[in-house]
Amino acid sequence: MVDRILWDPMNDPKSRVLVENLRLCPVCGSLSTRHAAGCAMCGWHGAFDHTPCRVTAAFSGLLDRCPDLAEMIRMRRLIEARDAIRPSASAPAGPVDLDA
Ligand SMILES: [Zn+2]
Repeated sequence: MVDRILWDPMNDPKSRVLVENLRLCPVCGSLSTRHAAGCAMCGWHGAFDHTPCRVTAAFSGLLDRCPDLAEMIRMRRLIEARDAIRPSASAPAGPVDLDA
């Protein structure tokens, strides 16, 4: 199961931006970016569902079905956190114990 802390758009500006840039196809339920011409799965070109709670639920479901994607996001967040506390962005990165 996906760590729900990763996906709380109300408390995380990056997650909120992600939700704002995704949409749901009303025909097949696929997620796509807001700027895509149409649904890549079924070809729908009409109105899409941009409701944040439904987009969030769909993305959370995607993460549940694709644990490797969830792990990639978790790792990215850990790296960003590490970089934020590193004294210098140009300093060589030492080994990071991500399980600590
Ligand atoms: Zn579709």
